[in-house]
Amino acid sequence: QQDEEKSNEYLDELEFLAYTAGGEVLKRFVQKMEKPNPKTFIGTGKMEDVRAFVEANDVGVAIFDDELSPAQQKNIEKILQCKIIDRTNLILDIFAQRAQTSYARTQVELAQYEYLLPRLAGMWTHLERQRGGIGMRGPGETEIETDRRIVRDRISLLKKKIAKIDKQMEVQRGNRGALVRVALVGYTNVGKSTLMNVISKSEVFAENKLFATLDTTVRKVVIGNLPFLLTDTVGFIRKLPTQLVESFKGTLDEVREADLLLHVVDISHDSFEDHIASVNKILDEIGSADKPTLMVFNKIDAYEPEIIEEDDLVTLKTKAHYTLKEWKKTWMNSTNGDAIFISALNKDNFEEFRKTVYDKVRDIHVTRFPYNN
Ligand code: GDP
Repeated sequence: QQDEEKSNEYLDELEFLAYTAGGEVLKRFVQKMEKPNPKTFIGTGKMEDVRAFVEANDVGVAIFDDELSPAQQKNIEKILQCKIIDRTNLILDIFAQRAQTSYARTQVELAQYEYLLPRLAGMWTHLERQRGGIGMRGPGETEIETDRRIVRDRISLLKKKIAKIDKQMEVQRGNRGALVRVALVGYTNVGKSTLMNVISKSEVFAENKLFATLDTTVRKVVIGNLPFLLTDTVGFIRKLPTQLVESFKGTLDEVREADLLLHVVDISHDSFEDHIASVNKILDEIGSADKPTLMVFNKIDAYEPEIIEEDDLVTLKTKAHYTLKEWKKTWMNSTNGDAIFISALNKDNFEEFRKTVYDKVRDIHVTRFPYNN
């Protein structure tokens, strides 16, 4: 039962990703298996169900929630006779659509080529089989090598280009002087851009889609008399393709070099605990797990509390009656850093939020310039 709930949530997210990429989902298929089928990922019976549906409904694309091996992708394509996309592919696609600056586009292109490279051989194997294989091996091999070389050349070119921009960004960050740096991090679509807008009173693009933000935005913010820099960063997601983590290193440097992280969470989302874990995992991967962090539980206006068992800390009644104090009594406050509960949309608890950020920034400022304060 719990497994079923989880797989439903995962597919909800996959459907949202598909929608973000511009697709419409007609049907979901779920299969419980001990291990994925090495040849076709799903089993023969299930595959026949999918094939029949694809044929009957003239489906253009079949999306799998896990990363498929190049061979699996080819095998499935042959059976279903439609385009086969895996989760990584879909996320890369969205990133490609959303990349606005040439820096982001370069980063995405690099990730796409890195995804493609190990798949080149599979592509040719497939073609060879169709051509009959024997006798074609010679030229086929050469073509694979030529293609690989082209892709490898392109990859090293893109890497150089990115390294150059990273250097420039590093210099820019250096030029920002000694101001305290605060970075918004969080799962995708939790409200980071909205929060950025209300804190800095600026207009950053916010949209109910995944990954509205690919490029970092830096704003100078003043609370009280205290100026600091606030950065919006790319949204994190479960199973973020490793190629993307790598190529977005420069963007993630903003996080790495921040003095304080505001980890924004959408508590109205059923899977928010998983989201926190995913974000923490990525923070760990980029070596930023131990930074001072303020947990910002956002969208309290949309939070529908579950009826909680009696032995839990507090019995949650209705969401309308929550005061900040009551929020603090919930288990959520037992997270590592401090926690605050807000609605960026309605500005609920916003003064508390500003004050908490102010205090934290001030603490950092004071340790940095002990004699100026
Ligand atoms: P980001 O991807 O983390 O930058 O998220 P966005 O700022 O783009 O917001 C994603 C969606 O959540 C948008 O539709 C926002 O209007 C919505 N949103 C942001 N904050 C809140 C909030 O406090 N309450 C509710 N109900 N929705 C919010």
